Amino acid sequence: MVGSLSRGGLEEFIRSVYRDMLPIRAVGPDNGGEGELEKCEYLEGIVRSLGFKRCERYDAGDPRARGGLRPNLVARFYGDKPKTLWVVGHLDVVPPGDSSLWHHEPFKASFIDEKVYGRGSEDDGQGILLGLCAAKSLAERELDSEVDLGVVLVSDEETGSVYGVRHLLSVGRGVIGDDDWVLVPDAGNSDGSLLEVAEKGVLWFRVQVLGVQTHGSTPEKGVNAHRLGSKLMLLIDDYLHGKYNARNELFEPPTSTFEPTKREPNVPNVNTVPGSDTFYFDCRILPNYTTSQVLGDVERLVEDFCGRNGVRCRVEVVSREDPSPPTDPNSEFAKRFTETLRRVRGTSVKPKGIGGGTVAKYFRANGIPTVVWMTCDETAHQPDEYAKIPNIVSDTQVILGLIGANVSF
Ligand SMILES: [Zn+2]
Repeated sequence: MVGSLSRGGLEEFIRSVYRDMLPIRAVGPDNGGEGELEKCEYLEGIVRSLGFKRCERYDAGDPRARGGLRPNLVARFYGDKPKTLWVVGHLDVVPPGDSSLWHHEPFKASFIDEKVYGRGSEDDGQGILLGLCAAKSLAERELDSEVDLGVVLVSDEETGSVYGVRHLLSVGRGVIGDDDWVLVPDAGNSDGSLLEVAEKGVLWFRVQVLGVQTHGSTPEKGVNAHRLGSKLMLLIDDYLHGKYNARNELFEPPTSTFEPTKREPNVPNVNTVPGSDTFYFDCRILPNYTTSQVLGDVERLVEDFCGRNGVRCRVEVVSREDPSPPTDPNSEFAKRFTETLRRVRGTSVKPKGIGGGTVAKYFRANGIPTVVWMTCDETAHQPDEYAKIPNIVSDTQVILGLIGANVSF
C-alpha cells in the first residue's frame, strides 16, 4: 500500500536505528575517544536512503580523531522551499563512567518495555532520531509540507563545539538562513512542557593563592594560603552577587548565579599549614552582562587582595561563553511552537530561559530563531541512560505539525 507508515512501522524503524547506532562509540578525542566519523557515515547512509534531496558535509580536521575528521552533516528533505526547520542532533556521546553502576551494557541497545537503554540513547540519539523519523514520515506518507525539513548532525557538542556547530556556522554560514528555524532536541522534561528560548552565559574560572607552607604549630613562619583563599573566595562571592543583581523573569532562576564549586585538595595531614589554595567558580550570567565584565572585576579584586596581603595569586579561565540574545518568546517560531504543542498534544508550554549548556546559543548569536525542546526523562550522562520510544513518536508528530505536514500515528 502506497503512502502508509503505521505507528508500529515507525517504532520498528526507531529500534533498528538504535540497534545499529548505539554500539558505535562516538566519544570525542577530548574525552579519550576516536571521534564521530563511523557514526556519521552510518547515519549518512540512512539520510540518503530516506530520499533527502540535498546532503552535504562540513567536516573539521582533527588529527586526533579517526580519519583525521570531525564530521558535520547537513541535509534538506525537499531542498527547494524558502524556509527550513532544522532539527539539530549531536553525534558525540560522553563515556559511560563507572560501569558497575550500569544494569545494561552501555554500548548496546537494550530494549525493555517502551524504553531503550544505552549511552547516547537520549543524549543525543533522541535528537538524531527525531529528524530521521520526521523524514521517514514525509517519505512514506508522501506528504508535502509548507516548511522544509532539515537535519543537522554535528560533532563535538560535549567538549566545546569547536569542531562541530562553531565550525559549521563559520564555513557553512549561508546554509542555515537567517529566516530559518532551528530546533535543538538536546534537553527537555518528561511531559514536553519546557520550551527553552534563552540561555545564560557561562564563565568558569579558577583562582590559586600561593602562601608559604609551614608546621601547624608555627604559623608565624609561613603564610596560610587556605585562610587567605577562603577570604578571597567569599570576597568574590559577595562582590559578584552585589554588583550583578539584575533580574530577568524569563529565566529560571531569574538572576545570574555565582557559585564557588570545586576546591583542590591541599595538604594530606592536619598539622601542616597549606602553602597553596585553589578554588573554582561556576558563573551563569544573564544576557544583561558579558563574561568580560565579570572576569575583569574578578581579576581586579584578586590583584588588590594579593597586594594587600603580600601573596601571589593566579586567575585562570576554565571555560567561557558569552550569553546570546534570547529568541523572542513572542516570535513567529516560538508562538507556532506553543500552538503546535497545544493542538497536536494538548500540552501547554511557557517559553523559558535556563542556565546554559546547548548549542542553541551559537545559532542565536547568529540571529537565527532557536528553541531547545524534547520530551525526555533527563537521563543524559547518567548510568542506565534511556529514551522512551513513544516520546520519539509523539515528538515526531509535533515536528511534522510545525512544518505544516499534519500526521497522526
Ligand atoms: Zn547532548
